[in-house]
Amino acid sequence: MLDQVPTLAQLIKTLQQIPYLASKSIYRLATHFLEMDEQHLEHLCAVLLKAKQQVLRCETCFVWKEKDRACSFCDAPKRNQKLVCVVETWQELLTVEKTGGYDGLYHVLGGVICPLEGVGPEQLTIDALIKRVDEKGITEIILATNQTPEGEATASYIAHKLKGKMITISCLARGVPVGSTLEFMDKLTVYKALSERRPF
Ligand SMILES: [Zn+2]
Repeated sequence: MLDQVPTLAQLIKTLQQIPYLASKSIYRLATHFLEMDEQHLEHLCAVLLKAKQQVLRCETCFVWKEKDRACSFCDAPKRNQKLVCVVETWQELLTVEKTGGYDGLYHVLGGVICPLEGVGPEQLTIDALIKRVDEKGITEIILATNQTPEGEATASYIAHKLKGKMITISCLARGVPVGSTLEFMDKLTVYKALSERRPF
């Protein structure tokens, strides 16, 4: 059918290139776009483009920030500048922030070491983290990678890299279900895991 409507076929093909969209959602989304009025669609495109142009990663912690504004963590005097919570992605950071019980800084790795998917340590922000520890007087690193095999292996790799430095390396308290990802955990569990953190 789609070869009779080549423009729609192109829309579907383009949507298929976006990760995280289930194949069923792609057809629904295409329909939704076609049914939207032109003004709303133009607004959506403008918002997307503006976000791409105006939002970038902080060069220190790799959290998204507004291009012409300071980082809401690294440049916030009220936050504990000596404490850094290492998370895989920005989504996990949001979960930790929602607990309201953490006042330190973050370091977003950008994923986990996964040789099968071609992700090595050099694709992540691990070197920048080590440099940060050396230069910024950090006293504690909380390794809050997910309790999946890749998350644990990444935490071990980082802990090994930090060996010999005068800092405390801790990880989330047990009680966090094995295999679970922080992103989908409730706030009380994350708060408890953080406040009862233990040496790595
Ligand atoms: Zn920052």
